[in-house]
Amino acid sequence: MQKLVSADLCKYDARPHEENIAAIKRFKEQENALLLCHTYQRPEVHEVADFVGDSYGLSVQATKAAQSTIVFCGVHFMAETAKILNPQKRVLLPSLDAGCGLADAIDVEGVRAWKARYPGLPMVLYINSPADVKAEADIICTSGNTLKAIEAAQGNRVLLAPDKNLYYSFADKTSKELIPWEGYCPVHKAVTGDMVEYAMAEHPSALVVVHPECNPDVTELADAVLSTSGMVEYVRESAEREFIIGTELGLVQLLERTFPDKEFYQVYDHKSCDESCVCPYMKAITLGKVRRSLEQGTHEIMVPEDIRVKAMTALERMIAIGRDR
Ligand code: SF4
Repeated sequence: MQKLVSADLCKYDARPHEENIAAIKRFKEQENALLLCHTYQRPEVHEVADFVGDSYGLSVQATKAAQSTIVFCGVHFMAETAKILNPQKRVLLPSLDAGCGLADAIDVEGVRAWKARYPGLPMVLYINSPADVKAEADIICTSGNTLKAIEAAQGNRVLLAPDKNLYYSFADKTSKELIPWEGYCPVHKAVTGDMVEYAMAEHPSALVVVHPECNPDVTELADAVLSTSGMVEYVRESAEREFIIGTELGLVQLLERTFPDKEFYQVYDHKSCDESCVCPYMKAITLGKVRRSLEQGTHEIMVPEDIRVKAMTALERMIAIGRDR
């Protein structure tokens, strides 16, 4: 069975990009599909997207979709979020290998036990989490509105999950006491202060811009700590020409395409292994898999209705507060 699936995928992925892109555009029309794409996706997948953005932007776009099908070129929790917000629509994820190491760091049984230790405290939950955990949250946040969500939560003590580095990024920006969950994004956790210092020595004129999922020894060296959309706007508004970027490779490639007159340096430039800061889950989506998804309806994402309704309340609160940047 596994061999048959692999052979099927090879058939799609072996085709030239141009052929797959033309077929995807044709099937998108035919299937009345909207193609949403996260910034960390492969450059050729960006080419077929109707909208490219971060978790917050994609969630908002999902609520505006007029099409009957949403193909989500991102990871599983993002496709689940689109389904929660659009129960009447068919939501497809082109690869079930597109999980998330951070979302895997939390589960519903663990969260219920954790909340029981802090009765009555509100929980702010990062969007990188499974649907059944979202159903336990008071409000969802993304890296673009974490502080707003913390301030919107009732009371002066707030549970913050699942990324402990978000706690380090925001604990000193609020008067509230934050109680963190012990989870991390494995991709951003791999970035170290040493890497940033090396890049700073190599490129002394460059500004350092990193994601809040990075470790504290990385964020404390940065000129700005921003979501991926925030990084794009920061570069757009900056008069500077050089930037050291501390996040996934796909965002660096997007910046290079969007601002060809500026220079971008990845924090891991000096490493012999060029796979650092590349998210293997995001890269599980290929053009071939997007084409197969449209042709064969793979893989439809479903969320049980009782979970969906509770998770939607927390997501709607997130959308209502807007974003910081
Ligand atoms: S970069 Fe990290 S948080 Fe984002 S999808 Fe990959 S593993 Fe998850």
